Amino acid sequence: MTARNSVTPRAAAEVSHYDLETDVLVIGYGAAGAAAAFEAARTEARVLILERSGGAGGASAMSGGEIYLGGGTPIQVACGYDDTPEEMAAFLKAAMGAGADAAKIDEYSAGSVEHFHWLVHRGVPFKPTMWDAPTWVPPTDDGLMWLGENSWPFTELAKPAPRGHRPTANDFGGKLLMECLSRAAESAGATTLFDTQAGALIVDADGVVVGVVARQYGTEIAIRAHRGVILTTGGFVDNDGMLAAHAPELLGHTKVSAGTDDGSGIRMAQALGAGVRHMSSGQVGMSLIPGLAARGMVVNARGQRFMNEDTYPGRIGQAALYRNNMGGSWAGGDTAVWVIVDEDGFEDVPEPQRWGVRPTHVAETPEELEQLTALPTGSLTAGIARYNELAMGGADLDLHKSPRWLRPLTPPLAAIDVKAGIRPPSEAGDRRGTGASVFTLGGLHTDLDAHVLDLNGDRIPGLFAAGRATNGLHGIGYISGTSLGDGTFFGRRAGTAAARTE
Ligand SMILES: Cc1cc2nc3c(=O)[nH]c(=O)nc-3n(C[C@H](O)[C@H](O)[C@H](O)COP(=O)(O)OP(=O)(O)OC[C@H]3O[C@@H](n4cnc5c(N)ncnc54)[C@H](O)[C@@H]3O)c2cc1C
Repeated sequence: MTARNSVTPRAAAEVSHYDLETDVLVIGYGAAGAAAAFEAARTEARVLILERSGGAGGASAMSGGEIYLGGGTPIQVACGYDDTPEEMAAFLKAAMGAGADAAKIDEYSAGSVEHFHWLVHRGVPFKPTMWDAPTWVPPTDDGLMWLGENSWPFTELAKPAPRGHRPTANDFGGKLLMECLSRAAESAGATTLFDTQAGALIVDADGVVVGVVARQYGTEIAIRAHRGVILTTGGFVDNDGMLAAHAPELLGHTKVSAGTDDGSGIRMAQALGAGVRHMSSGQVGMSLIPGLAARGMVVNARGQRFMNEDTYPGRIGQAALYRNNMGGSWAGGDTAVWVIVDEDGFEDVPEPQRWGVRPTHVAETPEELEQLTALPTGSLTAGIARYNELAMGGADLDLHKSPRWLRPLTPPLAAIDVKAGIRPPSEAGDRRGTGASVFTLGGLHTDLDAHVLDLNGDRIPGLFAAGRATNGLHGIGYISGTSLGDGTFFGRRAGTAAARTE
């Protein structure tokens, strides 16, 4: 095999010497990799984790730590919510959007309570208390939160139950999650090799993946994996070439990643004939405070509402990016979004929960606010009048926001331009940008045991994947927690399946 590019698979016959040998080789040490390594290492298999950075973590360690779990977990029960795997699956099939992987969702929902206990046994703490308001990440250590289940249209499709499970950490819990999972993997016997970047898969004459070629401090090394290679390398939001080819709408926005999501694992497998799914799908976080949005109106560049403001905020972001964009350049495209609130709505959200967000424009009348924001003449005034009429009637007949959040807007009024950005407590610096923060949901096509599938849908022997290197549960939709959720769930499957490979 001649190397046409950096990811072209290397023929095993061309590898004269292996620098290291293991049974299961995990590439990428985020949550999916840690889960895979733990399950493989708890068998008698030798497990090596390869990580290009200097330590475990990836995007997983930076994350909010929200994990989508349900079907009747002890935390749901303690907080007084009934749930079943069937209701959870019904919600996920709707929320993951067109192209959602129904078989994976059924499996994931049926196994969710067991997966909760698995996380607890790995030391991940969850507090049996509920945070009951729209937010990205609660400022408390409450263990349970809504992620859109109690918002329209999901209220009509599945019995609502909160399923956002959070490790016991104030604000972002990803660091704690990764500490627990990496400790578990290494205690089970997994060994690690840091500062080492996998570049290409090694394949034998039968087409079986038997190892990887990697670079460590500028030197090429070859690693033999006797039972399997597991790709847990994350997504491709940091690779602008791949975004341009597959998901151009995501170009130019703030990248939600640890900076290592260059799609290397996806490309290594593609070079071997792996199939991919939904490469254009993306999570789109708008720089808005969900609690403020729920208490007011969210409008686009035409001054029009376009989504029930109490829903999972990523749905507002996806609608803003994919539906509202009115042409022109997609790169950093037109994500004009304004949050309109009155003084009571603004003050109702405690200052620490506003993440530094302040009104960008304040006015005594809707007309004045419309002028200040340069929204089309008559648009915002008509929109506010309609919103107030619906609020006084007690029902949002247009977009079905829950009556809980519906209240007439009373001057003085404020408009918040999402391009001014937000700054979560864990981050420093200016966040002004397009108003959107994105990561990719498309990736390798895998089966229920995390085998990577080829273009015919057949297993590529010796190759497994999980986490954002794969498409996982997702169609075009996303809900917080499904990334850490499907990554750890199917990461475990990958570790188990690889370890038992003969
Ligand atoms: C601020 C923030 C908040 C988030 N909040 C949530 C949340 O609350 N809930 C949720 O579900 N998701 C959340 N996400 C998304 C989620 O964190 C990621 O999608 C998820 O962690 C991906 O897990 P992973 O294991 O697939 O990849 P990662 O955790 O990114 O791990 C991949 C690892 O692979 C390594 N790697 C890559 N290529 C190579 C290579 N060629 N060789 C060797 N190593 C390689 C990388 O260095 C990295 O360490 C958030 C993300 C961010 C950044």
